[in-house]
Amino acid sequence: MMDVDNKAEELASALGVTKQEVKADLESLLEFDVPLDEAAQSVRRKHGGGSGGSSTPETLDIASITTAQSSVNVTVRVLTHGTRTIRYQGEDVTIREGTLADSSGTISYTAWQDFGFEPGDSLVIGNAGVREWDGHPELNLGQSATVSMADETVDVNQPIGGDSDLVDLSPGDRGRNVEVSVQEVDSRTIDGRDGETTILSGVLADETGRLPFTDWDPHPDIEVGADLRIEDVYIREFRGSPSVNLSAFSTVEPLAAPVAVTDSAPQLSLAEAIDSGGLFDVEVVGNVLEVRDGSGLIERCPDCGRVIQSGQCRTHGAVEGADDLRIKAIVDDGTDTVTAIIGSELTEETYGGDVAAAKEAAREAMDKEVVAETIREELVGRAYRVRGSLSVDEYGPNLNVESFEPADEDPAALAAAALAEVGQ
Ligand SMILES: [Zn+2]
Repeated sequence: MMDVDNKAEELASALGVTKQEVKADLESLLEFDVPLDEAAQSVRRKHGGGSGGSSTPETLDIASITTAQSSVNVTVRVLTHGTRTIRYQGEDVTIREGTLADSSGTISYTAWQDFGFEPGDSLVIGNAGVREWDGHPELNLGQSATVSMADETVDVNQPIGGDSDLVDLSPGDRGRNVEVSVQEVDSRTIDGRDGETTILSGVLADETGRLPFTDWDPHPDIEVGADLRIEDVYIREFRGSPSVNLSAFSTVEPLAAPVAVTDSAPQLSLAEAIDSGGLFDVEVVGNVLEVRDGSGLIERCPDCGRVIQSGQCRTHGAVEGADDLRIKAIVDDGTDTVTAIIGSELTEETYGGDVAAAKEAAREAMDKEVVAETIREELVGRAYRVRGSLSVDEYGPNLNVESFEPADEDPAALAAAALAEVGQ
C-alpha cells in the first residue's frame, strides 16, 4: 500500500487537491482490480488533470504527434467540423469531430463539448489528449483542453470546409458536405436503441460516383430525383464500401440546378475488386465457369424473400413459396472468381421467358431443373461484362448484378492489363 500512498501524494500535489481525497478515489478503483497506473489516470481525469502524465504537454506540429504523447499543445486550422450524437457509457452525448491541419499535416479530432469553433478558424489548443484510433494518433478535446483563437491565420495545404466529391469519401470522414442527386430511397422501420424508429436508405450520385446512404433522422427533402446540398454527413463502412450517413445535425437544401451524375462504374480485375474488401458499384469482365445449384426456377419465402427449400423457410418454417427466377453464376477473369447473383428481370432476359414460361417448361419436362439447364447452356463458357455491387464475407465474394451483357473482349487479357496498370 506504500505505492498507493506515494501515488496519492504525487497526484495530490499535481492536481491541487487533498491527499486524503485522492487516496480514497484510488483505493475505491483498486478494489475493482484496476491497475494502479490506470486508476491514477482516472483520478487525474476526475480532477481535471487531463489524461496525460504529470508533465506539461509539449507544443508540437501535427506531423510530430505520435501515440506516445499523452497530451499536446497545437496551433491549427479547422478543416471540418461535424456534430453527432453517440451513446457513451450508457448516455447520449453530442460530440464535435472532424479534421485539423497545420502546414505539416492533418489530424482527426473529437471534442466532447462545443468550443464554438468553425471550419476556417485558426486555433491554439492547449492540453489536447492524444489517443490512438485505427492505428493513428487523434486529438481528444476534453474538459481539460483549452481552445483560443490564434493571432495569425494558420496556412494549410488542404481545402477548408468539408465539401467533397463522392469518390473522395472514406470511412471515418466527418463533417463533410456533398452535392448529389438522390437515385433510390427506401424507408424502413428498425429496432433502434430507443425503440422502433424509421430510417431512410438508398443511393446518392454525383459526377464522380454513386454511394449508398442512410438517413438516421429522415429529412423530408430526401426523395428520388431530388438534387440536394447535404451538409454535415459522416462516412462509415458498409459492406466494404463507404456509406454516407445523415443525422439530426445534417442539413438538406434543394439545389437550383440539377447535379450531373456519372453513368459508369470503375472497371477492375476481380483480384483488385475483391482485395478492396467490397465495392458499391464496380464492373468486371469474366467468363462464366458454372451456373450453380439454386439457379433457374426457385421459390422464395413470402415473408422474408429468402430462397426456400421444399417449402421450408429457415426463419419462418413451412410457407407457401412464391415462384421466382434467379441465376448464381461463377465468374472468372483469370485473377479470381466471384459468385454473380442475377435477379429475376435479368434472368428472364437470359432465359428468354418469364416465371410463367419457366413453370410451363418445368411442367412439360416434369423437372424444374430444365430451366437452370437452359440457362447453363446459354451462359457457361462465354464472356460477360458484369456490373454490380460487390460484397466480401466469410462465404466469399458475391456480386449483386445490376447489368450483365456479353463481352467481346478476352477477360484474361483485360484483367492482366488492369493488373499491370495497378502494378505501375
Ligand atoms: Zn422467411
